[in-house]
Amino acid sequence: MILLEKIKKFYYLKILKRRYYRYGKCNMCGRCCKNIYVWHEKKVISSKEEFEKIKNKSSYSFYKHIRITGKDDFGLIFSCDKFDEEKKLCKDHKKRPSICKNYPNEKIFSFGASLYDDCGYSFKPIESFDEVYKKISKKPPKNYETR
Ligand code: SF4
Ligand code: SF4
Repeated sequence: MILLEKIKKFYYLKILKRRYYRYGKCNMCGRCCKNIYVWHEKKVISSKEEFEKIKNKSSYSFYKHIRITGKDDFGLIFSCDKFDEEKKLCKDHKKRPSICKNYPNEKIFSFGASLYDDCGYSFKPIESFDEVYKKISKKPPKNYETR
């Protein structure tokens, strides 16, 4: 592996604490602005009451622009009023919140969600299965005692 690649890998794994590289670009399908799960305090918002409470307490303007359109096994599904259906673009694209700028984020995998089939992005694990397996094999099992 060339040095630059090694540095990149180290930076992503150890500094950014990522597990995936992200590839591709947005093809402006707009699905992520119309089918949104909202992650709040390490979980997805799953009830209307919870959302109302968060919205009322928070100064985060993003909450003011989204409305509930459904619910599934993961949680509530929201649609954002700032999405321009004709232009297929955010009406406030330059000032869109960081949650939107950073989408898609590998965090979606932690609650079992995945990318939309037609999303222009894809993710690839930074470490191969063999690399992860080797690491795990080196670690002593829990309750392992050394004398
Ligand atoms: S789902 Fe993917 S391709 Fe579609 S608008 Fe969102 S980021 Fe872009
Ligand atoms: S603020 Fe813009 S980019 Fe973010 S969800 Fe709404 S329409 Fe999409």
